Amino acid sequence: MAHIIALANQKGGVGKTTTTVNLGAAIASLGHRVLIIDADPQGNATSGLGIKKSTIEPEHEIYDVLVHGVSLADVIIPTSHDNLEIVPATIRLAGAELELAPVMARETRLKEALNLISDEYDYILVDNPPSLGLITINTFTAADSILIPVQAEYYALEGLGQLLNSITQIKSLLNPNLDIEGVLLTMVDARTNLSNEVENAVRNYFTTDQVYKTVIPRNVRLSEAPSHGLAIIDYDPKSRGAEVYGKLAEEVLAAHDNI
Ligand code: ADP
Ligand code: MG
Repeated sequence: MAHIIALANQKGGVGKTTTTVNLGAAIASLGHRVLIIDADPQGNATSGLGIKKSTIEPEHEIYDVLVHGVSLADVIIPTSHDNLEIVPATIRLAGAELELAPVMARETRLKEALNLISDEYDYILVDNPPSLGLITINTFTAADSILIPVQAEYYALEGLGQLLNSITQIKSLLNPNLDIEGVLLTMVDARTNLSNEVENAVRNYFTTDQVYKTVIPRNVRLSEAPSHGLAIIDYDPKSRGAEVYGKLAEEVLAAHDNI
């Protein structure tokens, strides 16, 4: 059975997609079978891995799995990276929140779909939209754990209480075994006091073992890679970004006794 990890923070621009793509590729490079599920209507993980929206077959995206009950096996596509596959998303997914609203068992749609394929993978990483709506409820219900990227900036802690409340609610109502996988500091600039203060504040807010030792610095190569449709490890394997996502992958694998 795969470990299913949802990457979530209802704030936009904190590094969810960057982490999904690059952690996924780094884990795959270490020999594990990885599936990325793009559950954000913006489809940034999809395009960031080089999948052109125009090449996605009609009714072969995550929207159709959630709304029309299409099986995941039918919508998975390979990427240019070995051991790394993706379920793509397009803007059609934005309709799912409304279309699912009156549907029975609407919170467990993704979980049921994943049950049928999770044996095929070691890790399934789910990229989330910047909101706590029905899509996120589906991903939290399907997941074993949540990885929370936190951007090292002034308002970093704002909204985390709400996110943790949502996790607690899903735990009590739908998914009792849901864990926090880890909290990841992103876009850290170690030269600034602010970055250091935020890092300390985040480490105080959570328990020590919840926050990854690895922090992700600002690295321009990380922001360039998606426009080439490549994970950082393929775009610039010698970059600082590739190095830190490799370290993070080792930390995640070690937590699951996979290294
Ligand atoms: P989210 O998915 O949470 O909205 P993204 O991963 O898309 O956030 O990141 C937001 C923007 O910041 C993107 O343009 C991305 O390329 C850039 N970015 C993310 N992480 C880094 C980093 N460590 N260094 C530099 N740019 C980054
Ligand atoms: Mg994103």
